[in-house]
Amino acid sequence: MKFSIQKTCSGINARLGMLSVKGKKLATPVLFHGTILNGKPEPWIYFKEKHPNTNIRGLMINAYEIISSQRHKETIFSEGIHQFLNFNGIIFMDSGGFLIQKNQNFSINVDDVMEVYRKSSPDMIVSLDYPLSPTSSEEENIKNWKKTLENYEIMRKEFPNIMPVIHGYSKKQIKLACNAISAYEPKFLGIGSLVPLMRSVKGTKDIINLNGFSREKDYSSKKYVVDAIKYVRDKFPDGFLHVFGIGSASTMHLMFALGVDSIDSMGWRLKAAYGAVQIPYTADRFLSSLGGKRKNRPIFNDEEKRIFNNCKCGIHEDYNYEHIDAKFEPKAIHNAYVFLQENLKAINEIKNDKYYSFVEQRLKNTVYFNLFKYSLKKRYTQTTLIG
Ligand SMILES: [Zn+2]
Repeated sequence: MKFSIQKTCSGINARLGMLSVKGKKLATPVLFHGTILNGKPEPWIYFKEKHPNTNIRGLMINAYEIISSQRHKETIFSEGIHQFLNFNGIIFMDSGGFLIQKNQNFSINVDDVMEVYRKSSPDMIVSLDYPLSPTSSEEENIKNWKKTLENYEIMRKEFPNIMPVIHGYSKKQIKLACNAISAYEPKFLGIGSLVPLMRSVKGTKDIINLNGFSREKDYSSKKYVVDAIKYVRDKFPDGFLHVFGIGSASTMHLMFALGVDSIDSMGWRLKAAYGAVQIPYTADRFLSSLGGKRKNRPIFNDEEKRIFNNCKCGIHEDYNYEHIDAKFEPKAIHNAYVFLQENLKAINEIKNDKYYSFVEQRLKNTVYFNLFKYSLKKRYTQTTLIG
């Protein structure tokens, strides 16, 4: 596994890089489309027929799903994960440790994860981590971090390129984690536990109080996410950095602007399951006011509908509007394509050194615009940092 930085951007930390794994090359920043075992649809197969030159760039799948699937485990072990998913690109396998975040009593055996990594041959793998929870005490979170570090020490002996994951809910914790990990000089690393902080969930108040980055009154857990990522980015300037779980079409650009090299997202499926589709520049939309799970669904206006109908993903030629409205699969394929296009645009804009204004435009009407501005402010006024 190799990673090299090819170009940096003016005004923001975004950068272009080249990731090489097992003879496969991928320009970064990259969005890995998260998928589930045997999940339908498989946009990478659909796109191969429709437009082979614009296909899903990388997939992320969860090792725990394989561990717990009696049905598919043997097949995956005998033919490998690439054959099973029918995807030749880079497959990034997560341990499934994030499931622990929802249920702290949930356990995953490190030997089982290592067996899956060994036998299913993904291209990139992650150390089994114990994510922190905003509702856990500081002691519990420190205990989780110690277990995460122990697993990394065990797993890296067999898999030297395995990705360690930094976790921390204060500057102090992030610093400790970075120091512990830097002893191993990793070339690839991830940051986890941040997903709940991007939402306004219970328990984030303590994180705001104890953050250690800023004393400003309107500090938020979202600002903490920005500060934590910037801190890790600064500590490992040359390392390939992945941020786990934060990837909508908007947050993708915020992450890339912070110098994150890769993200993963299951959003294309989740939004479609909810009945929603994406188009650039706007929040999630519904095709009609019929059905669905909630009232007052934001539906397309005429201009948005025109953009949607002109999308080149393929489903708009194959199905009529009513069919797309009624079915999960075409919506998921469309969403997968929008994510992919946004990723490709990001790369292109960084290449042309116009990503700064592109991100501004993309985030202008979202709740992330102020966060983007905040990330820029921090970059130039280091005096607001404590310590
Ligand atoms: Zn489409």
